[in-house]
Amino acid sequence: MIRSTLTPAGRRMAVYSLNTVVVGTGAAGYNAADRLWSFGQRDIAIVTEHINAGTSRNTGSDKQTYYKLTLSGGDPDSVRDMAQTLFDGQCMDGDNALCEAALSAQSFLRLVELGVPFPRNAYGEYVGYKTDHDPRRRATSVGPYTSKRMTECLQQAVEAKGIPVLENLQVISILSDGQQAWGLLCLDLKAADDPERRFVAFNCKNIIYATGGPAGMYADSVFPRGHYGASGAAFEAGAKGQNLTEWQYGLASVNPRWNVSGTYMQVLPCFFSTDQNGGDPREFLMDFFSNRGEMLTQVFLKGYQWPFDVRKVAGGSSIVDILVYLESCKGRKVYLDFRRNPCGGAEIDYAALSPEARTYLEQAGACFGTPLERLLHMNKPAVDFYLDRGVDLAKQPLEIALCAQHNNGGLAVNKWWQTNVEGLFACGEVSGSHGVYRPGGSALNETQVGSTRAAQYIAARRSGQSPDESVFVQRSQALIERHTAVADAALQGDVGNVQAIWDEAAARMSRFGACIRSKADLEMLRAEVAQRLSAFPDTVRAGSHRDLWKVYRLRDTLIAQQVYLSAMLDYIARDGKSRGSALYTDPGGVKPYESLPDVFTFTVDDGHRAGLVQEVEWQQGKCLCRWRKVRPIPEDDDFFENVWRSYRESGNIDP
Ligand SMILES: Cc1cc2nc3c(=O)[nH]c(=O)nc-3n(C[C@H](O)[C@H](O)[C@H](O)COP(=O)(O)OP(=O)(O)OC[C@H]3O[C@@H](n4cnc5c(N)ncnc54)[C@H](O)[C@@H]3O)c2cc1C
Repeated sequence: MIRSTLTPAGRRMAVYSLNTVVVGTGAAGYNAADRLWSFGQRDIAIVTEHINAGTSRNTGSDKQTYYKLTLSGGDPDSVRDMAQTLFDGQCMDGDNALCEAALSAQSFLRLVELGVPFPRNAYGEYVGYKTDHDPRRRATSVGPYTSKRMTECLQQAVEAKGIPVLENLQVISILSDGQQAWGLLCLDLKAADDPERRFVAFNCKNIIYATGGPAGMYADSVFPRGHYGASGAAFEAGAKGQNLTEWQYGLASVNPRWNVSGTYMQVLPCFFSTDQNGGDPREFLMDFFSNRGEMLTQVFLKGYQWPFDVRKVAGGSSIVDILVYLESCKGRKVYLDFRRNPCGGAEIDYAALSPEARTYLEQAGACFGTPLERLLHMNKPAVDFYLDRGVDLAKQPLEIALCAQHNNGGLAVNKWWQTNVEGLFACGEVSGSHGVYRPGGSALNETQVGSTRAAQYIAARRSGQSPDESVFVQRSQALIERHTAVADAALQGDVGNVQAIWDEAAARMSRFGACIRSKADLEMLRAEVAQRLSAFPDTVRAGSHRDLWKVYRLRDTLIAQQVYLSAMLDYIARDGKSRGSALYTDPGGVKPYESLPDVFTFTVDDGHRAGLVQEVEWQQGKCLCRWRKVRPIPEDDDFFENVWRSYRESGNIDP
């Protein structure tokens, strides 16, 4: 890596020249760098806004799941079988599914070697359990913090190799002409006050973009605080998005951000809401349910039917998500209270529960007392988790919302996780390698597989130095000028409004562009976003250099919102029906409960689009959507001599 001081577009800045820049220090980014090094590509660096930021390091759940090929027992499994499971999640490309299955064991065992304590039995078998959308028992976990342990172990591996990590650099632009990427422009978060040092650029042949899901779009979010993603910059650079409509939403506490799944629901807490100031408390679930046993049963089921699922609204537990969402839409705050039983604290009539719920609670010996007493009895660590974060469930209720948790879609990638922009690779959650449904834990598998594939390809096919600095300066001038001008405009005046605009934009997205999607609301919101973007230079003000990073974040977020909203509207225009975690209002559909507002009239998708992928491209503020067939799972060429010969010739890494 060579460091120079150059003056593209008349701006003095440090420019680093090197073969590959990895962006992000999550599970995907660290693994990409570690693999590049192991495959022999040493002219690399990692760029990150904060080493300790991101979803992998800062999130978890009751039993955070990693999905892998079966490595224990007598259950039959195969690479092909696992690829089929992933592919069956709909709208997923078969080559990506096959790679995720084929590299699963290698990626998993590498993590084991690095020290991630995945449990094994006395004979060394990595025994698994069944997760959602999983026909086998391929899931495993190290507890609530699987992704954190992965990240820590991968970080150690990277540090041991001495791979440079450049921190406090926020990528604000991917330098590209839409066909090919050749660098990055970053804001130096430690030097934002100094126009001579504020910007740093990278001149490189390859970028592995591992910036995580675009969480900054939503206010109601269980992504960790301080994680925003950076998909807007990739769209602006010409990268296509795919399956962007496919998110997972579910109930989560907002402070701290944590999924309230599993036992938190099975102990039957009391749901209530208040006005914004904490006044006018009232339980609201029984406004909808006419039968107390039915209400409690659906709350119980929400425990292991965590994500909002349109197939479980009629007669199912997803009605609980909707009732929470509707309460929030009234401007009220929603809470779980573990100190008292639902319906005014009355003793629970366990006989009124469904046999499934009743039997479970009976077997757990938990048919007594308050929700908190039941939770302490069944899962004390779940209480301790909140206590450790300053929330004593014995003394206070827990605020919740229906939150965005994961984006299955993202940037479109080929089987080497390269986007349509040459030299720009995307792996981890920023990539759109999954479709409507995916087995729990497959996101973490993909962070490892996608990054390994990109590293393999770069090491084999895209080695060599970055172009000459003069070439870099010449072709980057206009882009650098455009992006640095954003700061000049935002620093006018000393009254900032960027946080307020961002809060408003994110809240509107949670209200109208999350799991409940109607054409009229989406159109209204997209027009709002377009207006915010076009007025950006004249309206958004940082107030001081300290908030300059937010200005670039907001711009990135608005571009992402525009692309995602366009994808949703195009889906409706193509007569797309409700699927996964997204309910689309359909006047020709059915409203499962008369008491719900009309926006909940919808039709559940029959899977006829399972073989199609929606792609979206951002071009100068306009979004173009196209549909294509999924790439099928490639047919096996398993004749060993053939594979061996081509492997000797090309490593089986096609150009
Ligand atoms: C509550 C919750 C529970 C989950 N449970 C599971 C589970 O059980 N199983 C599963 O498989 N998945 C789960 N997931 C999803 C999974 O955790 C994530 O998909 C995965 O960790 C993403 O890893 P990543 O490396 O792609 O991104 P991240 O870990 O988010 O890392 C992104 C990195 O990019 C950096 N970055 C971002 N923007 C910029 C920029 N502009 N400039 C510089 N750096 C930047 C960030 O600082 C960070 O270092 C869960 C997610 C949540 C929120």
